[in-house]
Amino acid sequence: MEHIVKPIMEKVTEKNPGEQEFHQAVHEVLLSLDKVLDSYPNLLYHNILGRIVEPERVIMFRIPWTDDQGNLQVNRGFRVEMNSSLGPYKGGLRFHPSVNLSIMKFLAFEQVFKNSLTGLNLGGGKGGCDFDPKGKSDLEVMRFCQSFMTELYRHIGENTDIPAGDIGVGAREIGFLFGQYKRIQNQFTGVLTGKGSEWGGSFLRPEATGFGLVYFSANMLETRRETFEDKRCLVSGSGNVAQFTAEKLLELGAKVISFSDSSGCIIDNDGIDHEKLSFVKELKNVHRGRIAEYQERYPHAEYHRTNPRDASNPIWSQKADCAFPCATQNEINPKDAQHLVENNVTLVAEGANMPTCEEGVQLFIERNILFGPAKAANAGGVAVSGLEMAQNGSRIRWTRNQVDDELHRIMKKIHSTCLEYSKLYSDEGNYVDGANIAGFMRAANAMLDQGYV
Ligand code: NDP
Repeated sequence: MEHIVKPIMEKVTEKNPGEQEFHQAVHEVLLSLDKVLDSYPNLLYHNILGRIVEPERVIMFRIPWTDDQGNLQVNRGFRVEMNSSLGPYKGGLRFHPSVNLSIMKFLAFEQVFKNSLTGLNLGGGKGGCDFDPKGKSDLEVMRFCQSFMTELYRHIGENTDIPAGDIGVGAREIGFLFGQYKRIQNQFTGVLTGKGSEWGGSFLRPEATGFGLVYFSANMLETRRETFEDKRCLVSGSGNVAQFTAEKLLELGAKVISFSDSSGCIIDNDGIDHEKLSFVKELKNVHRGRIAEYQERYPHAEYHRTNPRDASNPIWSQKADCAFPCATQNEINPKDAQHLVENNVTLVAEGANMPTCEEGVQLFIERNILFGPAKAANAGGVAVSGLEMAQNGSRIRWTRNQVDDELHRIMKKIHSTCLEYSKLYSDEGNYVDGANIAGFMRAANAMLDQGYV
């Protein structure tokens, strides 16, 4: 099969020079597909692989805005509309200085498979901007969001492309973006998800990615007849996904001992209880402060300053049973992965998108660690976004319990689908292959049905 997958990978590398994150995401999927493709000659005949790695559309645009001092600033915005075979493009917007075309394309590519796994009618896309909301006033963020939407509005719509939040885009930003869309289009539609619960948002959307991650992980543990009771858990990040991952872990009896941000990490060996978690939520969501302030409030905790260029991150060398990377891509490097394995971690589940380097993924699989890849494990967020769209379409609001039951059901189904597809080629399949193959098959079959588009 090498002769099929290798030229596709070479072409992706050649046509998208320097886009390392995109190459990495495609490579991981092709490695899995390589194991099964010879059973599906029609997919090869119709060049589904060649088509699925090419975005249907890439939009790149200028965003001028004025800061509080009256200076004109310019940022670069993106929307990658990757694949609409299963439904309208769906995927978050990321505002972070590191945003570039490679990161947008890797995220959009991953999103196609993730959305497919949910079983809902959602295509895949992703967007964002190299704008950094950190240190900006609310008015600056509002002016920026209005300018961003003044260009983006013409490319999106409730039946075309429905963005949501991601790093740097939370409830505040979604509100400003929605307000500008409504003003330009004179339409109150479900064009964005993650809206405020009083104006079209679904209950549990803020919690969904973190809660879904823990539900998926509980399913993985169950295969070994284990639960979260008394498990020592590492969580990285301290934003939306990290906070609600920690909250659900606490509810299930686990002990959470860490959080981080882009400046450093805290380790609290006494455990981060509900009161400490409330402090983190207020610190991050209201005061937009740094995680270092946790140690000022709880001096017994350790604080380690970190830098993405460090050889390893102290979070991943702590003794623990489970690890939940919930910050950003490639935050677990080969050395970090080695530390986790040496400390006998039994489960690693990805809350962030592609947080584990490729060597790390292979190591976890080789060592038989329960490893939940992002496209399956963090699909709860987009799943509840899909439920938000259904509620907006029918003008009916579901109760919190209804949404939670549906989220439970979807995560359980994704888990069993991954297991089923991972066994297509061997008895010792893993969740990475299962997620890649199952996510691919549904989108690929829809592409076959829809002709050469
Ligand atoms: P937030 O903006 O709420 O939080 C991001 C967190 O990650 C912050 O603590 C941030 O620290 C930290 N972080 C960001 N970049 C870096 C970096 N380069 N190094 C170290 N830490 C970093 O975003 P989310 O919680 O929404 O997203 C986190 C991850 O989860 C992302 O990978 C995202 O794509 C993924 N995800 C999110 C979903 C959602 O529903 N929100 C759905 C599925 C996946 P700081 O404050 O210093 O920037």
